[in-house]
Amino acid sequence: MQLPREVIVGEGTIDTVTDVFQRLGFSESALVVTGQKTMEVAGKTVVEMLEDRRVRVNCVVVKSSTVNEVRTVEAKIREFRPQVVFGIGGGTKIDVAKISSANQLVPFISVPTTASHDGIASPVASVKGYEKPYSVMAQAPLAIIADTEIILKAPKRFSISGCGDVVAKLTAVRDWELAHKVRKEYYGEYAASLARMSAQLVIENAELIKENTEEGLRVLLEALISCGVAMSIAGSSRPCSGSEHMFSHALDLTALRHALHGEQCGVGTIMMAFLHGINWKTVKQTLETLEAPTSASELGVTVEEVVEALVKAPTVRPERYTILNEVNMDSHFAEKLAKNTGVIE
Ligand SMILES: [Zn+2]
Repeated sequence: MQLPREVIVGEGTIDTVTDVFQRLGFSESALVVTGQKTMEVAGKTVVEMLEDRRVRVNCVVVKSSTVNEVRTVEAKIREFRPQVVFGIGGGTKIDVAKISSANQLVPFISVPTTASHDGIASPVASVKGYEKPYSVMAQAPLAIIADTEIILKAPKRFSISGCGDVVAKLTAVRDWELAHKVRKEYYGEYAASLARMSAQLVIENAELIKENTEEGLRVLLEALISCGVAMSIAGSSRPCSGSEHMFSHALDLTALRHALHGEQCGVGTIMMAFLHGINWKTVKQTLETLEAPTSASELGVTVEEVVEALVKAPTVRPERYTILNEVNMDSHFAEKLAKNTGVIE
């Protein structure tokens, strides 16, 4: 079980980067993986602070999370041999830093600049270009430094998307329970509870989070980090990714123009909660309160794309038993499901 050693959340916590770096036993070198924008937002600050302490710092600016970017960063790690890799940015930058550092057996520190999904704290990452469209095990961050002042400056849409990714744990945990019951799959109550509690926390605090204040963001960050820890404890993404994520991954494959990960997972949760026979209306109301998408049109996708994604969803990750294995998801069934939950008209 790999767990983060330090989790620092709050206003101005970026200033603790060098102290954390030293407390973790590093003193010589670091590689900063960031994006063009996030370099300005947080990357530069981290580089300057480390250099002030005479740390050798190298940077890689990545554009997207593709296999090619991972290879570039891995080459840089081999050449530069840093003691630690910093992933500074939104989901994609952190994913690239996480996978490349794990492949090269170098520890990784997560410095998120958005709260758009649980990858900021999880041991899994997703990268385009591998044969699997979903997340794979990489490594848990050694430390997470989430500066709320920086994250609050990002468009609100990202945090709202993060809420969708947390609400998704309601059905993910149900799917896990189901797999345990039907397939005797390993099930960990502690990891499941952590994920379920995170979803509950977001549901109860939807109004607060919507305000986009420090207080609300803290709640969301705690929930996202708990989800990451739940995956570390379970040793897989099981507590946090079920049928609703399979719908989102399928939509990535079928839709011409897709929405944010958490937004899609939120809509997927409405439909999968319906299939599980749990309170899908609460899920929908929570997303509405947050002003998150709850329909195809709000996601910016077509009715056909939603139906196609639902039909495709069970094949995205066939080894993962979910509620999708218990229904016959043909286009007729898919259309009915989406209509019944108001995802399509
Ligand atoms: Zn997710």
